[in-house]
Amino acid sequence: MANQDQDPGEVKEVPKAQASVEGASAIESISTTSAVSEVNREFQEKSTLKKAGDMGLPYINIAKTPLNADYLRLIEFEEAQKGRLIPFFKVGKKVRVAVEDPEKPETKEVTSLLEGKGYEISINLASSAGIEDALKFYRSTQKYKKIEIVESVDEGAIDTYEKEIAQLKDVPAKLAEVTAEEGLNLLNIAASKTHTSDIHYEPGDGEVVVRFRIDGVLHKVFGLESNVYSKIAEQIKYQSKMKLNVNTIPQDGRYVFTFNENKVAVRVSSIPTPFGESFVCRYLPSGRKAMTFEELGFHGIALKKLEKAAKISQGMILVTGPTGSGKSTTLYSLLGIMNTPENKVITLEDPVEYYMKGVTQSQIDESRDYTFVTGLRSILRQDPDVVMLGEIRDIETAETAAQAALTGHVLLSTLHTNSAIEAIPRLVNMGLPAFMVAPALNTIVAQRLVRKVCPHCVKTEAISESEKKEFKEVIENLKKVNPGTEVEVPTEVAKTAGCDSCSSTGYLGRLVISEVLTITSELKQLILNNASSVDLIAAARKEGIITMREDGFIKAAQGLTTLEEVHRVTNVAR
Ligand SMILES: [Zn+2]
Repeated sequence: MANQDQDPGEVKEVPKAQASVEGASAIESISTTSAVSEVNREFQEKSTLKKAGDMGLPYINIAKTPLNADYLRLIEFEEAQKGRLIPFFKVGKKVRVAVEDPEKPETKEVTSLLEGKGYEISINLASSAGIEDALKFYRSTQKYKKIEIVESVDEGAIDTYEKEIAQLKDVPAKLAEVTAEEGLNLLNIAASKTHTSDIHYEPGDGEVVVRFRIDGVLHKVFGLESNVYSKIAEQIKYQSKMKLNVNTIPQDGRYVFTFNENKVAVRVSSIPTPFGESFVCRYLPSGRKAMTFEELGFHGIALKKLEKAAKISQGMILVTGPTGSGKSTTLYSLLGIMNTPENKVITLEDPVEYYMKGVTQSQIDESRDYTFVTGLRSILRQDPDVVMLGEIRDIETAETAAQAALTGHVLLSTLHTNSAIEAIPRLVNMGLPAFMVAPALNTIVAQRLVRKVCPHCVKTEAISESEKKEFKEVIENLKKVNPGTEVEVPTEVAKTAGCDSCSSTGYLGRLVISEVLTITSELKQLILNNASSVDLIAAARKEGIITMREDGFIKAAQGLTTLEEVHRVTNVAR
């Protein structure tokens, strides 16, 4: 994963599925495919069971068996596929494999390959459909394989963190001596001192591997004995308010501690494994500096408009885009500017993504009726100057937010719309009257994240005829409506290659492409007159908006990203 400075999208939580596969001992059950009907599948399993009996082999229902990525990787995916063979359990040098046909020559080849590596193989018979599902699961873990190579500790990183990690080596011994509460505290301090972003607890056969992610790279720092781990695990669950008596389903929780007078929030997620619960704890320290608009990727006219918006004393600023488009990072940057000693800044979030010094942050809790609406009403009684509201989802929230913006507050929030203009009809369609929308709105930002080409391996290539045509079309149109735009059709474009720095993806870090719409008095009048989207767009053009897609083309012309990326995030077919 790229570090914070390069990746504006990184503030977002790692998607859960990925987080669980990231652990070396990620264990997941495979779901049966819908293509094979239940009945048919049951019949296949029964006949395989009978066949196994005839052959004197143990039978395994591999589709119902939790698979461990580490065991799968005892052989290459291609070998597993060729041999129709799945390693599913391992103790020491003893490996149990599921096969479809033990007599198949390719299967025998793979078994002897494993035996050649010194493993003792025990063969179990599985159904063809079961093997197919297991292979599908193995393939799905493949895309994380490259990431894992990057995550393995490299020599340079060992040198850098040698001292810290050496200190961390003493942690298990200390953990065995102290109470659970002191133990977790010790781990929290260890994480904070080493600027760890995540701690992974991965129970395995024998010991529990504890890995720290430092600067985007996972380091195995120590192993814990299971009795020591179980008290730490209990404490993590207790502090993060997870159900203590539940250990068979994934849970999420959160707790906060203080380190050097800074609040650190810890977001915890658990998944069950055969060896106990596996936890990933993400550390979200406060006092982290928000990124500047330039660092995020705002430039030119969009940057100027955003800087102006950051200075308003009342009105609504909306950031729109789908999940994962970096909306909250932009909001935090705005808050970073607005968060001055003269301003009282309060947020209402779901969840709090990171803590900012000097900002009162609260998290909605629907089970206690602390929703965006009720929360916002309470917040407004706290005399704030700036309020950040996680999201406007319904008319009650929209109304309260608009009222706040009309009564001397700056209100920041997000909406799920594709473009900046679309936010206007969205609010109106929610039921917010135009006479409130028009005066309340100040600025609307729509954005996406494109991946930046990796500077270590990027190549340039002469532009192709079709790309040239595309660039020409967009840039000429842009210059027509916005004569001041300084961008030309490039003669060369960036082409991705792939190297160790970018996990062979050709991309490293991300960048915002955006459109920033200032609600001018002309636009306000149009909103009041219930003007059509076409008229709104025409007025926005006059006001000098550069669309997200155009911004993407500008960045591709500058060689920061590729046209493929721009197409991918703006959903425009070639
Ligand atoms: Zn690279």
